[in-house]
Amino acid sequence: MAADREAIRAKNDVVSVIGEYIRLKKAGRVYKALCPFHEEKTASFHVDPTFQSWKCFGCGLGGDVFDFIERMENLSFVEAAEKLARRVGLDFERKGKQGATSERDQIAQVNQVAARLFREFLAECEVAKQYLTTRCISLDSQEKFQIGYSPDSWTALAGALRRKGISDTVAVSAGLIRKNRNGELSDVFHHRLMFPIIDAQDRIVGFGGRALGDEPPKYLNSSQTALFDKGKTLYGLSQSRKSIAKTDCALLMEGYIDVVAAHQAGFTHAVAGLGTALTPEHGALLARYCNQVVACYDGDEAGRKAAVRAAEILTGAGLEVKIARIQAGEDPDSLLRDGKSEAFQSAIRNAVDLTTFQIENLISSSDLSQESGKETFFRRALPMVARLSSAIERERFVGMLAPYHPRYSSGITVAEAQIRADIEERRSQHAGAKRREWKSPQSAQNSISAKSARSADNRDLRTTAKIMSAAERAERELIRALISTEWRHFVLEQVNEEDFRTPAFRRLHNVIRNAVEFDASVEVLDVIGKLDDAEFSSNIRITLQEILEQAGNMPLMQASILDCRDRIRRQHREELRRRVAELVRRQPVLTVEESEIVREYHRLSSELKDTDGDRTDIGGR
Ligand SMILES: [Zn+2]
Repeated sequence: MAADREAIRAKNDVVSVIGEYIRLKKAGRVYKALCPFHEEKTASFHVDPTFQSWKCFGCGLGGDVFDFIERMENLSFVEAAEKLARRVGLDFERKGKQGATSERDQIAQVNQVAARLFREFLAECEVAKQYLTTRCISLDSQEKFQIGYSPDSWTALAGALRRKGISDTVAVSAGLIRKNRNGELSDVFHHRLMFPIIDAQDRIVGFGGRALGDEPPKYLNSSQTALFDKGKTLYGLSQSRKSIAKTDCALLMEGYIDVVAAHQAGFTHAVAGLGTALTPEHGALLARYCNQVVACYDGDEAGRKAAVRAAEILTGAGLEVKIARIQAGEDPDSLLRDGKSEAFQSAIRNAVDLTTFQIENLISSSDLSQESGKETFFRRALPMVARLSSAIERERFVGMLAPYHPRYSSGITVAEAQIRADIEERRSQHAGAKRREWKSPQSAQNSISAKSARSADNRDLRTTAKIMSAAERAERELIRALISTEWRHFVLEQVNEEDFRTPAFRRLHNVIRNAVEFDASVEVLDVIGKLDDAEFSSNIRITLQEILEQAGNMPLMQASILDCRDRIRRQHREELRRRVAELVRRQPVLTVEESEIVREYHRLSSELKDTDGDRTDIGGR
């Protein structure tokens, strides 16, 4: 795949590809344009022919030619690669064995045939049609979602597929037919309403079947096949993805019928999971189309719990998540069916963030008339508020919690002050625990992950860019010297792996060092091009572009390179000094790792002694 990717990249010049979408203007080394991914009046979107990268200095997005097509066309990496390969007339082979590819295509084909057969079976079945009528699902919706029916027989589909010339083997591998020990075929789905599950490329990847009789389970999905993965597919995405992209928002529901009912009522951005818990892959899938999700689950206890779990996972994918408050005893489908679509609309409009939703649920499930009930309530509510990073947000909840506080009778200000103090105490405990973990410097977190970053992450990237420490700036300057042909050898001589504190930079340094050992005149771009890790390759390109643009025409000099190196070493020694001081205070006996830290500190101290020896003394050792 790596070779394919580079072949595709080599023929798809980033300037000419992006130039097909937006108007680029040459400005010195780079091309500038108005960013297609955020509204702006001045051109902060830069395309760099040297690194074959692009970067928006307004919204923070950036990447290589694949990232641009992925984002512009809402495609996955493989789809984007396929599109770019076609653009330049290259043959494109999907990752995996040839056999696996054709198996997937065959499954998609047999699913398509089966979906048509299920539609025909539905037309002949009064019970199934009657059921859809009682659920108020219109003929248009049945057509749009290709809803069908699997007959109450064990061989209806198997026989029909055979008559259509479909091989039994393919039907079995599609999960539609099963073979018993005697080699007899039988249908997997019987007496069920059939909902085809269609992926973003409009292929039917599987089916969800809702029982019309008593045969369990109530909902039965296709089993996992070469084409179908429940954890990576969402119901309704094919029908809703344009609307989701347009409104920048997805409506996440629980069931297939919820989704159909929502679309029918005009909520065309509705999708659902496939009856299993939502996964991070589902989050990433949605994040390709939008920034916001409103979770709209049943109003019962199970629905609320599922909504909270879904919200946590989606938040983890960088999405902005809200939860619609559905009254106990109601569910989205019943609201929509009973003509209460206004109530549904207002539930979506008034959806709240995860913390509000959790605290409201906690309030309604706690006995706040008793002192002990209040205590339990606060024990559970405070961590929810303390985890919020925004002080303004936390303050909002201080006001919300105050009336339930045991000291509320002494006045609201007393209660609020107590809550505030409790929250801050929890936060400082948490921060202390975090510091003790001894992570690599803060820069590790902002190590340039714009690839899959949605706006939330990008906001972080921008703020961290502003508060970049002197050591981080020095590290970037070393990287700038490392990638210049003129200074590369000097840097490799004077600087070692440990001087790069940001993991991505350390990795780049190692890659370049190894490549140079092999071929002293190797081009940095060729080195990056040969990397197997597409995400790393793309991130590093935009970071290099960023570094060069920020440096402007500042010349590199021997003294400044050494100065950068020493600045990083001093900063590192300072971190070690604090760590060592803490170790000395806390423990008389050190572990192997801890004594390694002490040794590393002393080694670095003696190396830096010439520049400033007086501050290295930590005393007592
Ligand atoms: Zn932008």
